[in-house]
Amino acid sequence: MGKVMIIGAGGVASVAAHKVAQNPEVFTEVMIASRTREKCIRLVDTIERAYAGKPMPKFSTAKVDADNVEELVALFNEFRPEIVMNLALPYQDLTIMEACLQAGVNYLDTANYEPRDEAHFEYSWQWAFKDRFEQAGLTTILGCGFDPGVSGIYTAYAAKHHFDEIQYLDIVDCNAGNHHKAFATNFNPEINIREITQKGLYYEDGKWIETEPLEIHQPLTYPNIGPRESYLLHHEELESLVKNYPTIRRARFWMTFGQQYLTYLDCIQNLGMSRIDEIEYEAPLADGSGKTVRVKIVPLQFLKAVLPNPQDLGENYEGETSIGCRIRGLKDGKERTYYVYNNCSHEAAYKETGMQGVSYTTGVPAMIGAMMFLKGLWKRPGVWNVEDFDPDPFMEQLNTQGLPWHEVFDGDLEL
Ligand code: NDP
Repeated sequence: MGKVMIIGAGGVASVAAHKVAQNPEVFTEVMIASRTREKCIRLVDTIERAYAGKPMPKFSTAKVDADNVEELVALFNEFRPEIVMNLALPYQDLTIMEACLQAGVNYLDTANYEPRDEAHFEYSWQWAFKDRFEQAGLTTILGCGFDPGVSGIYTAYAAKHHFDEIQYLDIVDCNAGNHHKAFATNFNPEINIREITQKGLYYEDGKWIETEPLEIHQPLTYPNIGPRESYLLHHEELESLVKNYPTIRRARFWMTFGQQYLTYLDCIQNLGMSRIDEIEYEAPLADGSGKTVRVKIVPLQFLKAVLPNPQDLGENYEGETSIGCRIRGLKDGKERTYYVYNNCSHEAAYKETGMQGVSYTTGVPAMIGAMMFLKGLWKRPGVWNVEDFDPDPFMEQLNTQGLPWHEVFDGDLEL
């Protein structure tokens, strides 16, 4: 029934590929295409060994530069996927969307577009494609990971079933895991460090309020984990959620960081290693002659090359993530609070997919989003955020695909 292309072969793509393999009644043919073909081949080998003897989609691989629209169009025309799952980097969102339009293919991603030379993300660039996708009769599902992704679906579910009016929304993201490395990021280090070192931003009474990076913080108590210092960050789903739920008076996003992580981050910034502008560097020639050549490098990209690869963190990763929405609002004229969340074990994620919990909590929803599209449940020409669709079938799948959710009614939200 379903022919999909996964672009990227990193942590998130690896989890999505496992989950696609586990659902052969929906996914029949899968191509994994990325910059480094060897990684795609290794991933398919792992999957074919893991599910040997079981029904499985037919997998193939290809090399593609997702910054290049022509290359993408040629590959889409050759493979003819029904939907492309963009699990590469946010830099590639616009080129992949453009190629989808040219080749007549539907689109899904997990992170909104970000220009390489500016640490700034917002939906305007992708929302600008709305009319063209609508006219082409093609569906785009934006931000279908956990946050963004499940955070928006939780909010839509709360609005549909538990509130007449959502007034206060706090998305809370805790990683209480320990990977036993001095410093590592849980997803692409370049994207992660750009996100965290930005100014904070939240929404209140119709206005966006900017804060210094990590300026606002407080301890929050996470189920099965306990209190963890949580920092207010700008996060992309707030932009679409306040637009789609205009009764929201205040919307914020919180993420936990350990003291050691923050100390390292501070050093990285003070040393200039988080810079995203080009600097000149005297590099030795690879021919061993001892001669040098002046090259341009971006310090943050160099840092990525020496940091642990998030894909390799899984093996000794202990503990859990806990991500959820804490919501306050009105139901039948009375104030109500609601907390909906998932806890995900790094060990269990690694056992199932060879990846840690952060890749798992992103890759599973990406697969479910593609499944929703292929089943015709989330199919609507245009460019949409996840909360624009019916949350119920997605919530049902979360429970069966490895990310079960829990609810607390009228508890203390601490916020
Ligand atoms: P990785 O860095 O592990 O993987 C990215 C993959 O994309 C790599 O395989 C890389 O290739 C490939 N790639 C990069 N550039 C290109 C290109 N020009 N053409 C083709 N392929 C390319 O990242 P993650 O798996 O950790 O993250 C994937 C995405 O998920 C990111 O956009 C991230 O922001 C998002 N994310 C979303 C979350 C959510 O909850 N919504 C949470 C975590 C991540 P190569 O192997 O050659 O480097």
